[in-house]
This record gives sequence, C-alpha cells and structure tokens, in this order.
Amino acid sequence: MGSVRPSRAPHAPPEAGAAGTKRIMNADTPLPTRCWAEIDLAALERNLKHIRAALPEDIRYVAVVKADAYGHGLHPTVARLMHSGADMFAVANIAEAAAVREIGPGWPILVLGPLLPEEMRFVLEYEVIATVSSLAEVQRLDTLGGRAGKPINVHLKIDTGMGRAGVWHTEAAGLYRAILAARHVRLRGIFTHFSSADSDPAFTEHQRQLFLDVLTDLGVFSRTDLMIHADNSAGLESFAPESPFNAVRVGLLQFGILPYENSLLARVEPEPVFSFHTRVGLVKTVPPGTGISYGRTFVTRRPTRLAVLTAGYGDGIPRCCGNRAQVLIRGRACPVLGRVTMDQTIVDVTDAPDVEVGDEVVLVGRQGDAEISIARFSRWADTIPWETLTSITKRVPRIYRTGLGL
Ligand SMILES: *Cc1c(COP(=O)(O)O)cnc(C)c1O
Repeated sequence: MGSVRPSRAPHAPPEAGAAGTKRIMNADTPLPTRCWAEIDLAALERNLKHIRAALPEDIRYVAVVKADAYGHGLHPTVARLMHSGADMFAVANIAEAAAVREIGPGWPILVLGPLLPEEMRFVLEYEVIATVSSLAEVQRLDTLGGRAGKPINVHLKIDTGMGRAGVWHTEAAGLYRAILAARHVRLRGIFTHFSSADSDPAFTEHQRQLFLDVLTDLGVFSRTDLMIHADNSAGLESFAPESPFNAVRVGLLQFGILPYENSLLARVEPEPVFSFHTRVGLVKTVPPGTGISYGRTFVTRRPTRLAVLTAGYGDGIPRCCGNRAQVLIRGRACPVLGRVTMDQTIVDVTDAPDVEVGDEVVLVGRQGDAEISIARFSRWADTIPWETLTSITKRVPRIYRTGLGL
C-alpha cells in the first residue's frame, strides 16, 4: 500500500517507493522517480469529514470510487475512506466492486453501471448491490437469486433527464412493481442522476422535482428501509436538508476539487488530495529562430534557455497542453513551448536562470507560494478535472502521504 515519506526539501524529489506500479530496483537502491503523483490521504479524510459536517447527520455518505478512485489508487483511497466516515462505496462495474470487497468485507457496495448478463452472478458472489434500469435485468437477477436460494439486493435507477442508465421516469412505476413482485430481488434503494448540476441549476431543480413526483406516486416515503439519493458533488450545492433524500453520492468533492469555479461548496473548504510532479532532465540554450518540438509549432524569438522535463503525454500531460500550459519550477511559472511529446515536455526557463537539472517540477499542485490547480491544468488541456485525474497513466507511481506521522 501507500509508502510513507518524511517531509523533504522543496526541490528534492522523493525516491521511488512503494507505489501503484511495479518498480524495477537493483539490490538496494530504489530508482529515482521521474514523474509521480502525490496523494494526501490526510486531506482526503478531512474533506470527507467536512462534507459530512455540512450535511444533516442522518444522511448516508456513498463514496464514489470508480475508475481507480478517480486515479488516486483504489486500495489506499478506499481503506482511508472506510475509517473516515463513509457508509457505502459506489463503483462502475463488477471488477471494481470485487476490488473494494477485498479491502473491506461487509461494506455495502453499489455498482452504478448496467451489468452484462454474464456479470450478474458475481453480484451474488461478491455480495454487492446491483443497479437496475429495466425489466430484463430484474428478471435475470430474479432467476439467478432463485437458483442460488438468496435474494439479490438492488437499487432502482430512474432517468429524470440524463439519457443514460435508468428507467425513463414515466415507466418507473411499472418497474418498481415488477421488482416488488420478484421473489428473489430485494429493493434497497432508488436513485437518479443529474446531468447538469455543475452548469444548469434550473434543469437540476426540474430533475429533482420529477424524481420527487415519481417517489410520491410510488408512495415510498413511508418506507424507512430504502436509500433515496440523487446528489453528486455539484448536486450538494442545492441539497435541501429538509428533502426526503437520505443519501448522497460524492466523488470529485471528496478529492478536494470543486465541481466548477466559484461553487458555493467552497464553504466545506476542500483541500486538494492529488498533485502531479516531474523533474528537469536537461537544460540548454538555443538561438533565436529555433523550432521547438514536433511540427515546430513554436519558434524562439530570443536566445532561449530550455528545460526538458521527464514526462509527456505518456504520463498524462495531454498533448494539447503544448504552447498553453505552465509548470512551476523553483516556485516560478514557466510556459510550455511547442507540442508535448510522449516522454518529454519542453518549457522556457530563460527568466528562471537558477533552474538546474534534477529540479522538481510541479504540473498540478503547490510549490512555494505558487499553485496550479487541477481546474486550471484541465482548462489548458481542454478537459475537466474528472478526465485529467483518470488520464494519469500507469507509468506514474502514486506516492501516498498518510499524515499519520509514520
Ligand atoms: C460518478 C458518479 C457520481 C459522482 O459524481 P461527482 O460529480 O464526481 O461527485 C455520482 N453518481 C453517479 C451515478 C456517478 O456516475
């Protein structure tokens, strides 16, 4: 699991340690690290506690840990969330559910996505909760449950305007009755998902109201055994404490990232959990008129001191960061010149004459008083923080800081 490191000098990168990827080492010297992500598990824990504290006490917290816990590494992330106050875990598929099950026997795990017919038997094997959106799914699960002689737990998903998984809301009542009638399927919860909680409050309100109307028609509010949930991170902004929803599903915010700029959720003071680092592999000066990198999309206009960084799109720096992004070296912002390549990225350090080979480079995170937020990095990359995090590649070891003083 996570390696633990003492604090260190700002320009001295950590050595390679236990990390998400297999490392090649000689007998006793770990290889130096060229590009790495640091994961602050103590910040993760504080984020969860702050989010919880902002919600009514009886609201259940479903920690969304799909896609390797948003690229943070499933095992260390889930293990920390398990003793930080999470009530349930949500994952994308059966393989992820199996991985969470291995970490914590007994924890409720909800699989959010539709299951392939041949995956369904694993719902029983790993004792997870399936999401159902159609009669065919209910029937298959019912058959399996009957054969195994034990009921299969499900949440009913209702599509209130996402156009993805879920039964269309006008057909929800029929599916609800079919689940109640299925002898080997047990309804444990009902949920919906917002399509535009980070961009369109009016549509989110519309979805919320549709969901409430369906639930009222079903008469489920008298049932105290059901989990009723709708809110993702952005949804929390308009979460009404007096609403009949009794659970939330939080992904991005627990990793310390606001779902959009100026979100009111800043009040929970989320702290970034993830930071992204590399190093200077070479420094050299080239004359004016030098084309930089593939395609010569940048041509120098002055004698230019270049630093060649030891990471590229093969590590998760998107190619379109070329000529747009900045990185931090010795606390100063240095612009990326030309295209990002697979293994190397070139930055201008003409105005940072003290930069040397071996210096630590921050791609996302803090260095001295300067900071590059993941939101800013994602804008340079023409994407969103969710995609940035899940695009950090296998080549990048995750180095864990536990905050436990170990
Ligand atoms: C990913 C996901 C979430 C979590 O969304 P965040 O915006 O990261 O909080 C919640 N619910 C469903 C159905 C999801 O797919």
